Amino acid sequence: ENTLEGKTALVTGAANGIGRASAEALAARGARVIATDINGPAVEAVARDTPGMSGHPLDVLDGEAVEALVASVAPVHILVNCAGWVHDGTILDCDDDIWDRSFDLNARAIFRITRAVLPGMREAGTGSVINIASIVSSEKSAPRRFAYAASKAAIIGMTKSIAADFVKEGIRCNAICPGTVQSPSLNERLAATGDFDKALAAFKERQPMGRLGQPEEIAEMVCYLAGDMSAFTTGQALAIDGGWSS
Ligand code: NAD
Repeated sequence: ENTLEGKTALVTGAANGIGRASAEALAARGARVIATDINGPAVEAVARDTPGMSGHPLDVLDGEAVEALVASVAPVHILVNCAGWVHDGTILDCDDDIWDRSFDLNARAIFRITRAVLPGMREAGTGSVINIASIVSSEKSAPRRFAYAASKAAIIGMTKSIAADFVKEGIRCNAICPGTVQSPSLNERLAATGDFDKALAAFKERQPMGRLGQPEEIAEMVCYLAGDMSAFTTGQALAIDGGWSS
């Protein structure tokens, strides 16, 4: 049984979408969940409704706040890095600011928070780091995802490196690569195209299953990777994409 009783899980970007579903699923499996998001009131509201979960405002770009939060909740046994940002555009739409923002949020923030959490995992002799990358990364391309794909590919590189460095210390690190998943920010991206229904149809069209993924489907993989049932799995980029990359 994949129980997470006795484990502490820290989740970023937990107010919405995949992060929220993951935090809720981890709590349902018995973990003590520290749910964080830049939107403090929203994540606190999620936590109020969920036994075993506390909600904390945290901007993952704020290095000092990250260190302080990790110190206050340590030791963390499960770290789910979910906060992320999609820039819609090709290389010709990407200026230095967009590049920096993509890499700051999608890559640097994961580097910093994982660096802060790892000493506690080493001391505990156990840990699972789960990075939410994307199938649009080094795994697969999609139109207008230049800075996004580059920064998500960096997550896969970090994942494999962390896995290799700490494999002998009981610490595992894996990435999940979702295809298109229903979420508030996806709805915003669809609306921003000017024709929500047409954009939604196009996104479904490129999924061989003809539907989008649900956050709860990604959360199941998060729980699997968090628990001892996956003890032989590390350094992997695991796709959940409705067959998009197959
Ligand atoms: P979402 O984009 O709707 O929500 C993301 C959450 O992150 C929000 O609650 C937001 O407030 C929070 N956030 C944003 N900036 C933050 C910051 N600086 N610090 C802390 N929190 C911050 O959720 P989603 O679409 O499920 O995306 C979650 C992750 O999954 C992202 O990394 C995304 O790239 C990845 N992903 C999503 C899809 C998809 O189709 N939805 C596909 C592949 C990968």
